[in-house]
Amino acid sequence: MVDEAMEQALATMPKCELHLHIEGTLEPDLAFAFAKRNSVALPWASIDELRAQYEFEDLQSFLDLYYALMRTLKTKDDFKDLMVAYLTRANADGVKHAEIFFDPQVHVCTNGLDFNTVLDGLLEGMAIGRERFGITGGLILSIVRDMDIDSANMILDLAQPRKNEILGIGLDSAEVGYPPDRFVDQFERARSFGWHCVAHAGEEGPAAYIRDALDLLHAERIDHGIHIQDDHELLERVVRDGIPLTCCPLSNLRLQVVHDMRKHPIPEFLHEGLMCTVNSDDPAYFGGYVAANYAALADIGMSMEELAALAGNSIDASFASDGRKAQLHAELAAWRTQHGL
Ligand SMILES: [Zn+2]
Repeated sequence: MVDEAMEQALATMPKCELHLHIEGTLEPDLAFAFAKRNSVALPWASIDELRAQYEFEDLQSFLDLYYALMRTLKTKDDFKDLMVAYLTRANADGVKHAEIFFDPQVHVCTNGLDFNTVLDGLLEGMAIGRERFGITGGLILSIVRDMDIDSANMILDLAQPRKNEILGIGLDSAEVGYPPDRFVDQFERARSFGWHCVAHAGEEGPAAYIRDALDLLHAERIDHGIHIQDDHELLERVVRDGIPLTCCPLSNLRLQVVHDMRKHPIPEFLHEGLMCTVNSDDPAYFGGYVAANYAALADIGMSMEELAALAGNSIDASFASDGRKAQLHAELAAWRTQHGL
């Protein structure tokens, strides 16, 4: 395990978080508080009993709990409070800029909430985070790939009048059996809104999904993408084109995408020249926020120099303005000097 000094250094290293589902930051105590104030019945008698459910063993048991707890979110204030709770933790982990996924199809089509309630609450939370901590960033509307495609179209209809308040489109949830070619129309529409395009691909799905996300969806970043290790030609292309990958080590371990952290491909990716980044995915469920993901890589022997390079990648891979990127690189350079790098 990394020592306290290393932990402290990693938590103060300036970084961007680019792969984070706001619904995946719902901690047991917050879920309990939301359930209470919204009179939502939960099948667990106490926070501890609920916390014990977070020890799931596979993707399905994770998704079951994930969607069950999303039902506790009802009001604009719930979404605001959820966002502020995340940004408070992110700030403690040295996050300066965050590009955050949200899943409106679940809130609106499954749970019956108003789209604007969800968006207003999240944006209000981000405004508080910016004021309180100086964290910049934006929201990425993520299509839930295993839900009805009509619900995705409906959400884009609802989002269109507010397109300037949203940074981009993403594609998440169960990957296998839901290949990128199903979502060409939705991504084309998102591009017409002026949105950035990113997509989860090559997490549990094959490398071919990564290629299709690039060619058919015009993804500017690949979320996860670790199965790129199975296709060397594709890997060379992604290196050449400077396409970033948003990797999530603790998530990969918890969902058995990798079985041993020592075999995680990030060190090799960095060595190959891939622009890979470190992120926390669904941190309330996967055992740690972003600094813990960096610490997990320090644990397997990655050096401070390599970890700082990953933080530098997170700045370059973000959709922040050139001015903001320059500012963040200057902060990272100051941190490096302070740590003798
Ligand atoms: Zn994800």
